[in-house]
Amino acid sequence: MALIVQKYGGTSMGSPERIKSVARRVARYRAQGHEVVVVVSAMSGETNRLIALAKEIQAQPDPRELDVIISTGEQVTIGLLSMALKDIGLDARSYTGTQVKILTDSSHTKARIQHIDESAMRTDLKAGRVVVVAGFQGVDAEGNITTLGRGGSDTTGVALAAALKADECQIYTDVDGVYTTDPRVVPEARRLKTVTFEEMLEMASLGSKVLQIRSVEFAGKYKVKLRVLSSFQEEGEGTLITFEEEDNMEKAIISGIAFNRDEARINVTGVPDKPGIAYQILGPVADANIDVDMIIQNVGIEGHTDFSFTVPRNDYQKALAILEGVQGHIGAKSISGDDKICKVSVVGVGMRSHVGIASTMFRTLAEEGINIQMISTSEIKISVVLDEKYLELAVRVLHKAFSLDQEP
Ligand code: ADP
Ligand code: ASP
Ligand code: MG
Repeated sequence: MALIVQKYGGTSMGSPERIKSVARRVARYRAQGHEVVVVVSAMSGETNRLIALAKEIQAQPDPRELDVIISTGEQVTIGLLSMALKDIGLDARSYTGTQVKILTDSSHTKARIQHIDESAMRTDLKAGRVVVVAGFQGVDAEGNITTLGRGGSDTTGVALAAALKADECQIYTDVDGVYTTDPRVVPEARRLKTVTFEEMLEMASLGSKVLQIRSVEFAGKYKVKLRVLSSFQEEGEGTLITFEEEDNMEKAIISGIAFNRDEARINVTGVPDKPGIAYQILGPVADANIDVDMIIQNVGIEGHTDFSFTVPRNDYQKALAILEGVQGHIGAKSISGDDKICKVSVVGVGMRSHVGIASTMFRTLAEEGINIQMISTSEIKISVVLDEKYLELAVRVLHKAFSLDQEP
């Protein structure tokens, strides 16, 4: 008998039929004697609908009130799933984040989990109940409702698994595992049987939304056994996130390709090349709580240099305005930017022991006439910034160039 945390995403909860099917899967696990805690997302499209509704009232929604609104999607699905479970003879009980007491900090719309009170859940499990918890939401020390950022139900699932020391955390979604890249963009993408925790962390941070990055961080920190599976299939082993690098000769050099459209580039040209300039440019941006990702500073020529960096697309206008405000103070010649860019990254722990990955990547893009605007590398990834219109093409040709469509 094991304790299993199952998380079901929006598509998996998308209709009464789908919810009943989730209930039947939970029942199968109960029938095998397992204890089950279920974490659910809102029905697909619901969180977007609620955000749009809020914006009709207030263009820049008040963060505290926005959390009150967007957390309701999950309150609906915990009730529906608990009813579906009772309807087929299981005892179940629903919990909002506040009812469990998933304590978070107070950063509305991107709160971080600080502590989870598992006592009520334990009591229910002992009494033979299925515990159904609302994903994506928590409560801060003052009792305010908070949410964990888009895709945050994954993090609720893994955090509950960590708190309960569950034997496994199963993330059920609309694909049957983690693929070499988004199968919606490359139909030839292949499911990975395993992916290392490090690779998954990179893929999630570089845009593969199959798992929210914080859920992967939690899994790493608390060594949660994490598996991604399809809720549309009866069987299947999905993809296991592993902590050991298999010393497996067949392991591919590149495991996957991630991409992110949610990016914008800002260029600051003709700034005096002197100590403190990076701080003068990026300090005000950081003070406005804008995440800066890739940064490039050119070698100075005749005492002047150029500086480029990327920010989330949502923050583009705000970042531009901040820099225009300090342009005179910095002494920059011009401030410009582009919010029609994307980032494409190849990821793989095998890159550590192989050379030539970058040159294959750059040659492949060059052969398609795709211009690279920025490059950044780490031990296990290479990212390039491209014009957004080349995203699909770039991902497809790179997928082929690294033979990701074939078993290694
Ligand atoms: P859920 O609602 O279940 O949380 P998401 O839409 O958040 O589902 O995540 C699943 C989606 O992630 C898939 O439908 C797929 O389009 C996308 N995706 C992006 N990259 C990958 C990848 N490497 N492997 C699998 N799916 C991916
Ligand atoms: N419903 C939330 C969202 O759409 C959380 C989630 O689905 O994980 O972002
Ligand atoms: Mg998701």
